[in-house]
Amino acid sequence: MNGLMMDYPLTLSTIFRRAESLFGHREVVWRAADKSIRRYNYAAFAERTRRLARALLDLGIHPSDRVATLGWNHGPHLEAYFGIPLIGAVLHTLNLRLHPEELAYIVNHAEDRAVLVDESLLPLWEQVRPLVSVPTVIVVAASKPVAGGYLEYETLISRAQPARDLPDLDERTAAAMCYTTGTTGNPKGVLYTHRSLVLHTLGLSLDHCMGIRESDGVSPVVPMFHANAWGMPFSAVMVGARLVMPGPHLDPESLVDLFHRERVTLTGGVPTIWMGVLQFLDANPRRYDLSAIRAMYVGGSAVPQALIEAFERRHGLPIIQAWGMTEMAPVGTVAHIPGTMAEATDERKFAYRAKQGRPAPLVEIRARNEDGLVPWDGQTMGELEVRGAWVVSSYYNNADSADRFTADGWFRTGDIATIDADGTIQIQDRSKDLIKSGGEWISSVALECALMGHPAVAEAAVIPVMHPKWSERPLAAVVLKAGASASPADLRAFLAPQFPKFWLPDAFEFIDAIPRTSAGKFKKSELRERFRDYRLAD
Ligand code: AMP
Repeated sequence: MNGLMMDYPLTLSTIFRRAESLFGHREVVWRAADKSIRRYNYAAFAERTRRLARALLDLGIHPSDRVATLGWNHGPHLEAYFGIPLIGAVLHTLNLRLHPEELAYIVNHAEDRAVLVDESLLPLWEQVRPLVSVPTVIVVAASKPVAGGYLEYETLISRAQPARDLPDLDERTAAAMCYTTGTTGNPKGVLYTHRSLVLHTLGLSLDHCMGIRESDGVSPVVPMFHANAWGMPFSAVMVGARLVMPGPHLDPESLVDLFHRERVTLTGGVPTIWMGVLQFLDANPRRYDLSAIRAMYVGGSAVPQALIEAFERRHGLPIIQAWGMTEMAPVGTVAHIPGTMAEATDERKFAYRAKQGRPAPLVEIRARNEDGLVPWDGQTMGELEVRGAWVVSSYYNNADSADRFTADGWFRTGDIATIDADGTIQIQDRSKDLIKSGGEWISSVALECALMGHPAVAEAAVIPVMHPKWSERPLAAVVLKAGASASPADLRAFLAPQFPKFWLPDAFEFIDAIPRTSAGKFKKSELRERFRDYRLAD
């Protein structure tokens, strides 16, 4: 027997209309390219979004057409987040840190029909342009007249009437897409449905995920082109939180200044961003008042426990770790201290927070190794598999990735994890980064996070190098803090009490900087290449 409730479609339109009718007075704030602070309220955001929707329809954008953005985090990008999907078109955020050829591949693969480009990113777009054919280019935040053949965003939307007749969309309609850029193979497109984004937005807003509330000042430092800024803009709009966006200014001083001025309460970014902020705060104690901040979310790569402790003990700022993937819209797990640990010592709580936490509702996890599904014992490593309401079911137009899905419909994440008895995961590695030494697995992530707890170490990445007997052994590439010194023997002695003896790196190489990916993560493929011929003694 079927139930008798409305089949109410879960679309971004409902989130948009809610903000428009309930939160017209709430503010959207951002730092523009020229460093000035811009602000308007949700009523203006909603009106401009409806104008964008009409302008796109007038330009001949049809349902299912992909409309790309190449931009920083700011008001017009938020308008695109809604204006494009609200007409049934697909918001395609482009990663501005990619190489022009990689961007061209992605634009061509997605067959983008139009692109919104920040004026400050036109030099990048000009390198992509000869390699693609995108009929409509709209320049955002233009400070001067735009070149022939381009449209100017403000003129475009001021001439368009606000679209009042937005379509009722099916909730399975594609709303947005992001490409993942692995270190091997071509980028792969993830195509989010309206339904998945709405459910993710609801999930994210729960207290044991990000718990975004109306009273918050939410600052997504994570770019809007990286996995929907982790869904923070959608969630803020749904609950009517103030949005405070950094624009292109992601240096520690600009961020801290923005948090201070705008009384930010909740923010999110990758570990490298917070490492910079920590150094800045250490060097400038008490100059800024960040006491309004109640949560700093961090994810994208593993978070050293030392970073969490330093923020908490030295600055009273709460770092909370989350794990996710572009393929999961993106939040999978969040490391809020479970109720059962309320009375635990600080030491145990910090150790918990250095793990990746428990799954969000509507996300299920399991892990598998060559013996089958692994027990939830906190010891046995296996590849993490997920399924849920906002997990990819296949990549966009990509026949080669069927092996990323199990026969019973779970997504294989490529991450190696252990799972504790209470469902808390700890990411040990990407499967390709795991070090296989004499048949045993060594977690490069655990070694790096521990090394970054050494007072002389700014950054560390651990990679496998060939070994005649053990096949692979760990090598630690270490960046020392300015003016600090440490020898390989010091670092080995520092790690020794924390790990089994066979985990300790055989070699420590001191380098100037760890190479980064377009998402600000350590680019280990480049390090592996650099140390490819490294020979360890037998
Ligand atoms: P992306 O799709 O670019 O967001 O990358 C997703 C990948 O980042 C995951 O598969 C993990 O390997 C890694 N990742 C994300 N969050 C974390 C975290 N908190 N700890 C360790 N790795 C993470």
